[in-house]
Amino acid sequence: MDAYTGRVLHVDLGRRKSQVEVLEPAFLQKYLGGVGLATRLLIDNGEPGCDPLGEENAVAIAVGALAGTMVPCGGKHAMAAKSPLTGFIGDSLSGSYWSNALRRAGYDAMVIKGKAANPTYVFVDNEYTLFRDAEALWGQESFATEEAIRAEIGDSRVRVSCIGVAGEKLVPYACVSNDRGRQAGRTGMGAVWGSKNLKAIAVRGTQPVSVAELEELNKLSLDLGERAQGLATAKYRVTGTVGNVLTLNRLGLLPTRNFQNSVLESAEQVSGEYLQSHFKEKAVACSGCPIACEQVVRVREGSYEGARVSVDYETLYALGPCCGIDSLPGIIKAAELCDRYGLDTISTGVTIAWAMECYEKGILTESDTDGLELNFGNHEASVALIERIALREGIGDLLAQGTKRASEKVGQGSEKFAMQSKGLELPGYEPRGLKTYALGLAVGTRGACHNRSLAYEPDMKGQVDRLKAEKGRGQIAAESEDLAATLDSMMFCKFIRGCFEDYHEEATEFYRLATGLDLSAEGLKEAGERICNLKKHFNVREGWEKKDDWLPARILEEPLPDGSGQGTTLVAEELRLMIDDYYEARGWTEDGLIPAEQLAKLGLEDLS
Ligand code: SF4
Repeated sequence: MDAYTGRVLHVDLGRRKSQVEVLEPAFLQKYLGGVGLATRLLIDNGEPGCDPLGEENAVAIAVGALAGTMVPCGGKHAMAAKSPLTGFIGDSLSGSYWSNALRRAGYDAMVIKGKAANPTYVFVDNEYTLFRDAEALWGQESFATEEAIRAEIGDSRVRVSCIGVAGEKLVPYACVSNDRGRQAGRTGMGAVWGSKNLKAIAVRGTQPVSVAELEELNKLSLDLGERAQGLATAKYRVTGTVGNVLTLNRLGLLPTRNFQNSVLESAEQVSGEYLQSHFKEKAVACSGCPIACEQVVRVREGSYEGARVSVDYETLYALGPCCGIDSLPGIIKAAELCDRYGLDTISTGVTIAWAMECYEKGILTESDTDGLELNFGNHEASVALIERIALREGIGDLLAQGTKRASEKVGQGSEKFAMQSKGLELPGYEPRGLKTYALGLAVGTRGACHNRSLAYEPDMKGQVDRLKAEKGRGQIAAESEDLAATLDSMMFCKFIRGCFEDYHEEATEFYRLATGLDLSAEGLKEAGERICNLKKHFNVREGWEKKDDWLPARILEEPLPDGSGQGTTLVAEELRLMIDDYYEARGWTEDGLIPAEQLAKLGLEDLS
């Protein structure tokens, strides 16, 4: 077997010990890597029913089979743990050099357990694993932490993944950052690290990665790299995903003012095009990526002068239109603070939007908000709130809990406009106008997520009537989840998927040439289904109930107020119909549980 190392590094922070577990090729082939492998390792190593912020929670990190090879856009890693935000599976992806370093250090995955007695960082120095004091780093922002660790080790090749202050303060939507600007953003992995007193994992990986058929793999990689310069990726290369703003606004799908509107009147001012012409500094890429979707922007004048960050569509939507904010300098400053403190920008922005609506409705007053006037559009208040959230000070302590818990605490009907599912805040597409996508959000194992289900694609491409909720969407949603699971386990960046003529055929060819292991297109599809069932199994184990697959009351009780889909509804009966259809397509029971024979069919009989 090539590419894979067949080794998992187990780290026990409490005992300050590490050991290596050897994985068989058949096991790796079954779970592929990335999300699949990380989820399986989490199930095997985390304590069922554990407190997400307790010592018994495990963090599993896995790279894909192609990490460290020449295959473009194949160098990412997945992180899985029980989420402190949702209580269900937390899984999050990040990319770039850290992922490759772990493979080059000789590992396919890491599993971290226990809790260090004091702030600690782990240094994986090829075959050695060292536990180092991080007392001096505690309280430092993420960018500074990366640099301080590299300076301490004295080697600029060392790659650092770390948490900021928000993770230390156990904000349940804190993220983990690496390579100055890449994040495992969603579901609160940063808080899990913080609960373990784990500030960072530094990796020095300098060993070569072998591949089974070097010449052929090189040829195929060059060809894919060339295709990645074509039309399929033009949007990502030119404006990045922020190019979505005007398209979604035109379609009446841009969630605005906490989903009270789906059109932002001043969308031009926050468009990708405007960002490009007024704020763009450069585009940067993850390691081995010919697309370079990341837009680094800088504020050049005014009160936020010097703010600099990379911005994507989701960040822009959440900290901008969702909060009614159309000041790009204000959005850039807010995004920079999120990155420095280590906060998930989507959950941060949507939680601030919920607070703004509470304020405008008189549910929160200035005596609750530390005197801040939380009107929609007030970017200064948003910037002030981010610091309070990260430090859990004043109103920030309430908002640090996310929309679900904060609204349960505040009550007064604010639960109805807490825009979350399973506790995870909604991404930036209006579900009332995208019915298949709405189903994907409701049944998503990690909560409301546009990345673990690609169900918006048939809606947006017109392959189905996006305004209609009907039977048949269950199969489409299930297949889109399976596809996403294979991408997230092979660890191909999703932005390159349009460059494949036949993704399953070509991806398995890459896999074969890299690893030497045969995997058919059908086998890859089945692995996707297996991984989705594995994640669902984790949720069931942690207490999932049918009612958890649902959407916020606003989506189900209020028609779309404006835009081209004005008046469109998604009522509870329609959502129920699609969810039941989805359970049937998955081969699950009417209650959404996985029958033992279904687990056995997917080779997961040991879990039944
Ligand atoms: S397309 Fe963007 S996210 Fe994907 S690998 Fe390239 S730079 Fe990273």
